[in-house]
Amino acid sequence: ETMINQIAAGEVIERPASVVKELVENALDAGAGRVEIVTAGGGLNLIRVTDDGGGIPEQELELAVARHCTSKLSTDINDIRSLGFRGEALPSIGSVARLSIRSRTAAGDSAAEISIEGGRIAPVRPAAANRGTTVEVRDLFFATPARLKFMKGERAESSATSDVIKRIAIAFPAVRFTLAGSDRSTLELPATDDTPEGQLRRLAQVMGADFPENSIAIDAGREGVRLTGHVSIPSFTRANALQQYAYVNGRPVRDKLIAGAIRGAYMDVLPRDRHAVVALFLTLDPATVDVNVHPAKADVRFRDPGLVRGLIVGAIRQALTDAGI
Ligand code: ADP
Ligand code: MG
Repeated sequence: ETMINQIAAGEVIERPASVVKELVENALDAGAGRVEIVTAGGGLNLIRVTDDGGGIPEQELELAVARHCTSKLSTDINDIRSLGFRGEALPSIGSVARLSIRSRTAAGDSAAEISIEGGRIAPVRPAAANRGTTVEVRDLFFATPARLKFMKGERAESSATSDVIKRIAIAFPAVRFTLAGSDRSTLELPATDDTPEGQLRRLAQVMGADFPENSIAIDAGREGVRLTGHVSIPSFTRANALQQYAYVNGRPVRDKLIAGAIRGAYMDVLPRDRHAVVALFLTLDPATVDVNVHPAKADVRFRDPGLVRGLIVGAIRQALTDAGI
């Protein structure tokens, strides 16, 4: 069983940032309004995620760390609103690290805690905590030393973690996110709200306070596919494409087709070595897209790639033209 979980971990948990992604998604699935992330040693020594969500009932703590146990079951995978559904993350993390989960529900009058180390589960014990959940991951990959050797420096792992949080945070403007680490990649994203203005304020927190006045709103649709968001004007660029955020039905994705469409849209107005800053949200019939090609990767498979590409290129070009660019 530990072996199976370690194999699954090899798929899902590539580096500290993958752990942070899974834990933050769990917090959001639990309805958190605040998510606090603390790391040490680039996340290899410590990752701690605290939320104020619904919590896990004491009698379900053991289930939470069991393989393929999820409280988010739905018959249709495309239908699910929650980010997680495989019931794989916690057992995978528990098989390669020292994991502890402390939680308290609104109904529960005390908190409880469970821990696993390298796959060995210790009995549930009472604990003290506020409502919500704290998940602590220490000594990531201590049980799989070969994987540990592949880690880049502390700086690189921290910036990957910070990128993951920003990526998710853009889709949840009403949630407050903080990241505290031992280096420069500290984040403080106060809650805004789900209105377009709140959305833009969240973008300013992530992209820089000067993003709103240097960007144009996008709102376009074609054959049941809707595209909204903000894209930067040509004078506002970056040396890399890190600040290009894309979402499909609310899920963060990194997709070649979308990246290519953005490049295409700016082809005539940006130098080859510069990149636009964008946040784009695609909304379409879940039956016409597969966002779950691989658990850890964010690839997307569109039923009609040409339609999506055409919409993105057309909408950005039109917006730039309308702005007189
Ligand atoms: P999944 O998210 O796919 O269901 P996970 O292994 O990530 O699988 O989590 C297992 C279960 O543990 C979840 O279905 C949920 O019931 C519970 N859980 C995990 N993290 C939290 C959290 N922060 N708050 C409340 N419940 C949680
Ligand atoms: Mg999960």
